[in-house]
Amino acid sequence: MGKGLIRQETVGGWETAVYGASFLKVNFSHMEATATKSAKEIVQAAWNKRPLIISGPCSAETEEQTVQTIERLAKTGKVDMVRAGIWKPRTRPGSFEGIGTKGLPWLQRARQLTGLPVMVEVATGKQVEDALHFDIDVLWIGARTTVNPFSVQEVADALRGVDVPVLVKNPINPDIELWTGAVERVAKAGIKQIGLIHRGFSSYGNTEYRNAPMWHLAIEMKRRSPGLMMINDPSHISGRRDILLDVAQKAIDLDMDGLIIETHIDPDKAWSDARQQITPERLAELLDSIKWRHETTTEKDFITALEKLREQINHIDDELIQLLGQRMRIADQIGEYKKANNITILQTNRWNSILEKAFVKGEKLNLSKEFITKYYDAVHMESINHQNKIMNS
Ligand code: PEP
Ligand code: MN
Repeated sequence: MGKGLIRQETVGGWETAVYGASFLKVNFSHMEATATKSAKEIVQAAWNKRPLIISGPCSAETEEQTVQTIERLAKTGKVDMVRAGIWKPRTRPGSFEGIGTKGLPWLQRARQLTGLPVMVEVATGKQVEDALHFDIDVLWIGARTTVNPFSVQEVADALRGVDVPVLVKNPINPDIELWTGAVERVAKAGIKQIGLIHRGFSSYGNTEYRNAPMWHLAIEMKRRSPGLMMINDPSHISGRRDILLDVAQKAIDLDMDGLIIETHIDPDKAWSDARQQITPERLAELLDSIKWRHETTTEKDFITALEKLREQINHIDDELIQLLGQRMRIADQIGEYKKANNITILQTNRWNSILEKAFVKGEKLNLSKEFITKYYDAVHMESINHQNKIMNS
């Protein structure tokens, strides 16, 4: 038997080991702070901390990699909760699909060694049962599950009568109704503590990000559900290490409640998401480089609040420009088609119907007819100029 192993049992068809005695090895500085707190109180304290910092490997691969990553994270003193994927829904078959139930005791052991609460992704009722059997402290629903109401409902049904915090990632497509629906299903199952994770949205041909952040959707979701914390996931938004800090900083500037960032003892050799993982020590440096914004209560803080709002406006303006660029590229393609088929640039009927629809929509959004007219005229002119260039080149 390995160190601290107190018994073996079979769960979900897996031979598993349960560790207990190693709890005595809890790192002393952490123990002082937590000695009088129960496991539930430690989870509560972490859940309520702002900013909440969550880190850990994309996937639990081996016991050594899982425990070492978490021990090194604990050593930084900068992490409040630990994540690890046990069941990995991968987009394409053939990728590593997770170690399965066998990895749960590794997390249990890491928790006993470090005192840090642990969380895993669940996508089925059975996974919820297995995770709870091994006292996993927090569960999260992944982006590929949030898109599917049947799966979310199955997870929610398995959560009925259970007191465990749940984080819900945004769906892979930019649809906040689906995101809201998943939260509602979990809430209807009786879960009281629910949080959100913004991990970005996939889109075809997107190059800068693995999953475009579309910050305005996270902001809108936060506006709709002010009681739910919003954690940002720079790892899955970036898909690569070099822009992690930039994304994390934007999230903090936009007043997100925390960060979830993937870490691995040997990132390049990770079995999943190798390009975006960093070492625990690098995570500590990254967290140190973030300019943390302060809370607001006094007059000075009002200025900070104003700055945050202006930041939001800057981000939205940035996205608008990007979208306009994208729109003009499509106009260029239309130009090519029209040229090939010898069709006029201006087709008045189409333009009228676009304008009519915009007026109706604009009215609902409190945008004046005058503004809509000016805006569409400017966009339309630019589009015509683009097509003109193509057709006469
Ligand atoms: C993950 O957190 O490793 C994961 C699979 O993320 P997502 O559901 O955001 O793709
Ligand atoms: Mn991952």
